[in-house]
Amino acid sequence: MKTLTLKNAAMLILAIVFISLLIVGIKYQKQINRLIAYWTIYSNQDSTCKQCGILFQDGISDHESAYRFEGIKPKNDFDDLQKLVDRNKLIEIETTENYIIEPMDASYPVLLPKGIAFINRLAKEYRDLCDQKHIEYIPFRITSITRTKKSVEELRKHNRNAIENSPHLKGKTIDISYITNKKHVRQKDLFVQALTRLKERGLCYVKFEVQKKCLHITCR
Ligand SMILES: [Zn+2]
Repeated sequence: MKTLTLKNAAMLILAIVFISLLIVGIKYQKQINRLIAYWTIYSNQDSTCKQCGILFQDGISDHESAYRFEGIKPKNDFDDLQKLVDRNKLIEIETTENYIIEPMDASYPVLLPKGIAFINRLAKEYRDLCDQKHIEYIPFRITSITRTKKSVEELRKHNRNAIENSPHLKGKTIDISYITNKKHVRQKDLFVQALTRLKERGLCYVKFEVQKKCLHITCR
């Protein structure tokens, strides 16, 4: 038997690696495609928020204070929230040209009328800034709205930070994601400016939530 030269051994290893990759590629094609899609989205994301850590630091007691005179009593489940919608106490919120309501498991897309008015005002303020700078308006993404005792309990199983007495139980608290496409960092700056203006006018409390990559907002 001939002895393997170094060159032949390298060729053999390369061939084995190539064939293995081919087999893995064929067998796990779907998973690989999903990974590539995920990576494409992930690598185009900007998950920073300049200034947010300085501008938005309203704590739990601030958010709670917004509910001293206004807010619903925490409900058990989504059916109970729907009853309030039927009685016109809460209003359902859907995606518009101004904002996107993301699919949400732990919360129900309903708010007190004040919450809806606040979101519309925020969108208007942000749109005005985009118009002034002549840049395209990019809708912001609302990732969490009103929760229930049941959904908070579920959330607490996976997320230690979900608090039992969450302001999200009371009808005018929302989370807005600050993750955007890298192409839209200018829009993100303008959105932050718009939100700052509303906060300075005493219309909301805002907490920068680094772990959840969102701005936790309670309107006043
Ligand atoms: Zn929140």
